[in-house]
Amino acid sequence: MKKLLKKLFVPLLASAPVSAIATSFLGHGIPIFMIHRIKVEGQSNSGISPDHLRRCLRYLKDKDYTFVSLEDIIGSLNNQITLPKKSVSFTMDDGFLEQAEIAAPIFLEFNCPLTFFIITGLLDQILWPWDAQVSWIIDNTNKNHVVLKFEDEILNMILGNKNNRRNAREEIRNVIKEMNSESIPEIINNLADAADVQLPITAPNPYKSLNWEMARELESKGIRFAPHSMTHRILSKLNKKSAEEEIIGSWKILESELSNPLKVFCYPTGRVLDFGPREINILKKESFIGAVATLPGSVDNNSAALLYCLPRFELPDNMTDFIQYCSWIERANHNYLFSHSQI
Ligand SMILES: [Zn+2]
Repeated sequence: MKKLLKKLFVPLLASAPVSAIATSFLGHGIPIFMIHRIKVEGQSNSGISPDHLRRCLRYLKDKDYTFVSLEDIIGSLNNQITLPKKSVSFTMDDGFLEQAEIAAPIFLEFNCPLTFFIITGLLDQILWPWDAQVSWIIDNTNKNHVVLKFEDEILNMILGNKNNRRNAREEIRNVIKEMNSESIPEIINNLADAADVQLPITAPNPYKSLNWEMARELESKGIRFAPHSMTHRILSKLNKKSAEEEIIGSWKILESELSNPLKVFCYPTGRVLDFGPREINILKKESFIGAVATLPGSVDNNSAALLYCLPRFELPDNMTDFIQYCSWIERANHNYLFSHSQI
C-alpha cells in the first residue's frame, strides 16, 4: 500500500507547478548518479536493465533536465561556471565489459556526459576485484555449507538456496571490508578452498572487463575516464604507502593509456569509513580536482566543502525512486532527517 501511494504521489509532487513552489523554499540540488552492474540478457548477474536506463534518461529529457558532466559540477562548486537549476550527472564505477558495451552507448545515444571510474588492474587484466571474487566463489560452489575460518572468527554459511547465497555474499563482503586490506588475498584463497572452487586468475564471465582499446574508443566519443584505484582495496584499511600507490598509480596508468582522463578520484566502496583526511590530503597534494564517494545526497551551492567526498545516489532500479532523487522531494526528506538527527 505504502509503495502504491508513493508510486501515485511522487510523480505528482515532482510535477512542474509543485516543484516550482517547493524549490523556492528548498533551493535546487543536483543529483550525481552512480551505476555499477548492467543486466545482461542470458546472464544471471543483477543490475540495471538497459530499458530502465533508457527510461530514466528519456524522463530527464522530457522534463527539461540538463545533463551535466562531473567536471562541470566541480567547476560550479569552484564558482567557475553556473549550471542550469535542473541538472543531473551520471557516473559509472569499476570497468566491467557490459558497462562499456551496453551502458556507455546508451549515454552516447542521449548525448549525456558520463564519467567512467576505472579499476586500472581490471583493465590491465592482472586482477579482478576481491568483491567480484567473493560473488563468483559463492555462485559457483557446489557446497551447501561452507565454514570460513579467519583470524579468531568462524563464519558458518548455509548456501542451500538463492537467498542463503545472497546473504552469505553480503556477510563475507562486510567482514572483509572491516579487515586490513593487505590480508584480503589470503582470506579469498581460504574461501575458495573452503568452497572447493578453483579461482580463475583472470576475470571470468560475468566479471570480464573492457580493455584499453575499448576505453580509448569510448573516450574519442566523449566518455570521460577517471581513476578508481588499482585494486579496489579499501584505502583506509591500507598503510599510507599502499594508499598512495592506489591513488597515484591508478592516475598514472590512466594518463599513460588515455588522452584526456579526468583527475577526479573515486574511493573504492566509498562509505564514510573507507577514506579520511589522509586520503583527501594525498589527493590535494597530487592536484586532484575532486573525489566522489558512495554517500547518498545531491550537490548544491553549499557543497564546496564536499569537493573531495561528493555524494552520489546509486541509480535506483525503479522510476518512482529515480523521480524522487531528481526532485525536491529527496531534499525535503534529507533536510527533515538531518534536522531530526541533530536533536
Ligand atoms: Zn567500485
